[in-house]
Amino acid sequence: MAEFKRHSRFLTELDPAVVDRVKQLVLASRNIVITCHVSPDGDALGSSCALWFVLKALGKNATVVTADCAPRSLQFLPGVRDIVAATRNGDRAHELIADADLIFCLDFNDITRVDRLSDSISKSQAKKVVIDHHLDPRIEGEIVISRPEISSTSALLYIFMWQAGWTRHLTRNSAACIYTGMMTDTGNFSYNSNDPDLYLIIHDLMRKGIDKDNLYKLVMNTSSESRIRIMGFAQYRMQILQPHRAAVIMLSEDELKEFGYSKGDTEGLVNVPLSMPEVTYSVFLREDAKDCVKVSMRSKGEFSVSRICEEHFGGGGHTNAAGGEFNGPLDKALQKLLEIIPTYDKYLQ
Ligand code: 5GP
Ligand code: MN
Repeated sequence: MAEFKRHSRFLTELDPAVVDRVKQLVLASRNIVITCHVSPDGDALGSSCALWFVLKALGKNATVVTADCAPRSLQFLPGVRDIVAATRNGDRAHELIADADLIFCLDFNDITRVDRLSDSISKSQAKKVVIDHHLDPRIEGEIVISRPEISSTSALLYIFMWQAGWTRHLTRNSAACIYTGMMTDTGNFSYNSNDPDLYLIIHDLMRKGIDKDNLYKLVMNTSSESRIRIMGFAQYRMQILQPHRAAVIMLSEDELKEFGYSKGDTEGLVNVPLSMPEVTYSVFLREDAKDCVKVSMRSKGEFSVSRICEEHFGGGGHTNAAGGEFNGPLDKALQKLLEIIPTYDKYLQ
């Protein structure tokens, strides 16, 4: 730790008064709920579980409550088994939220992102602390720590904990949760990863005993046969809209059934076309149910897919990774997409 302490000043600092206020809220609370966005990813679950471990170490009664379960690739994450997911245990999830006096909202910027929990959370009398890195936060909370320039909520949470003097409570398990969130939101440190602070954090997490190489394998090497086949099939049919520097990948409800799709099987698929130099952005349309198409987008550089998702698909996210939904059949979603794509040519560099 001596080495770490020598440069123990992050470039990013949070307002110390805000950090103190969160500490006071934690001290004054009896029942704490931690929640994150629906279809939780490595950052959502990593930050939630890490905070859960630390709050428990501080002697607090805390529970992670999510809208739905962790995907298969994150089942290994320490703490995941103790999560109360509303899809499995709805009554308990709503009860915990109703009884909470403090709710941490991690890794989302809009209450609709907690899906079936949004009413309970909005109605709850609990004080709310938001810690998030998405653009344009639209959640009400006693405290909103929103830092879109930080690549993951997990890294932001670490910085918060460090300023709060809580990092000494991090163990190998909770450090693994934070690392997983940092790793998954940066594609294993291949984008949004030039902030030197990230590597100070990793240094400390490794001192806590994490095996970063193994964490990568645990997250990445969990493919099912259906995932490998479905990814190949979808890529084979990819459309490239060359003048617009866009790629489109689609999977219909019937195709998903045929391949025995299960949740998480298409994780990362939307990133694949970006490996072509001529593609600036990539769109994936997945028909999850009748008239319900999940839209996922990724881009390179300054080109903002969050703008497209916000303007046309009732969603949002980050400049280079965003999502939304289309209420209608898949062919209509594609039709809409093909109509709007040319209107974004002006943003291509
Ligand atoms: P993914 O494509 O992996 O589902 O999501 C990429 C990013 O877009 C995530 O950071 C996520 O928060 C955001 N995102 C995905 N779907 C939605 C959505 O329906 N609404 C909003 N506001 N953001 C979304
Ligand atoms: Mn995130």
